[in-house]
Amino acid sequence: MIREPTPSLHDVSRETRSDDVSRETEFDTPIAREALQAVHTLNVRQETWPTPPRTRVMTVANQKGGVGKTTSAVNLAAALALHGVRVLVIDLDPQGNASTALGIEHPVGIASVYDVLLADRPLAEVIVPVEIAATTLFCAPATIDLAGAELELSSQVAREYRLQRAVASYLAGFTPSDPAPDYILIDCPPSLGLLTLNALVAAREALIPIQCEYYALEGLAQLLRTVEMVQAYLNKALTVSTVLLTMYDSRTRLADQVADEVRRHFGGLVIDAVIPRNVRVSEAPGYGQTVMTYDAGSRGAVGYLQAARELAERGRNGSDLVEETQ
Ligand code: ADP
Ligand code: MG
Repeated sequence: MIREPTPSLHDVSRETRSDDVSRETEFDTPIAREALQAVHTLNVRQETWPTPPRTRVMTVANQKGGVGKTTSAVNLAAALALHGVRVLVIDLDPQGNASTALGIEHPVGIASVYDVLLADRPLAEVIVPVEIAATTLFCAPATIDLAGAELELSSQVAREYRLQRAVASYLAGFTPSDPAPDYILIDCPPSLGLLTLNALVAAREALIPIQCEYYALEGLAQLLRTVEMVQAYLNKALTVSTVLLTMYDSRTRLADQVADEVRRHFGGLVIDAVIPRNVRVSEAPGYGQTVMTYDAGSRGAVGYLQAARELAERGRNGSDLVEETQ
């Protein structure tokens, strides 16, 4: 296919990276921003990314709050979905931030993940399409009811396996003419309680976002111990497959030190693309959007676009990633 000679997102990224003053400010008029966004949206949709041979179920986990779990889940999901990859986001945080960022209202009373975990409601019944990519992006929303779920789950039979069972019966319902999602991304609350445990038991892969800041590595050992415990007792298929560096601030030496240390520790599991700290990323949820549509030309969107492309490339050959043990 012959491509239009519009600048690719790679080119934009190079330009913006060479310039510490965010390029967004230069274009900061509503018309300029919309024009830029239209160009990038067009560009984005020209490409179709590789899909994995089977559904990749990935839990986005880190018990620290504010490290970019939700932001990463929704933006990676949106970037993949805008490139023809089918994605389901399961919002497992009572705050419902992922649902909000995907433009889904989640008042108490709507069909939600709570019903799946505590009332055996089929996952398929609570899933809604996400407007920006209604044929490829879906969300199982969370409501604040989920706040009570940790406690309510504790008295349930097979309390750690509720989500795993729901996901398994959901995936069993697909046929070749109605294919299953390529990715299921599960957004976790900031704790290592029963909700996060359910997510780790339901997934084959853990994706750990790490914020490039001072206390970033604190608590990581505890998370890795939990993953090992889940592997040993609850879900031997689980591996930490992906680490994503978020909120990178190129002006600080500390960010580089943290990034280096994470790469030393996790090696090839770390996605090459680093997500910069960028105000557009934090503004987007306020408009019920991901940054991929709110400002597709921003450095934050380009970062997530590159990270998502890498995720798709790495996942094209599923058996390289995880053993076929389940
Ligand atoms: P978590 O889900 O781990 O608690 P969030 O994804 O909600 O973390 O991110 C915490 C806060 O940081 C949010 O306000 C979010 O908008 C903001 N944020 C996340 N990533 C970035 C980024 N790359 N640049 C700027 N702000 C960010
Ligand atoms: Mg969150």
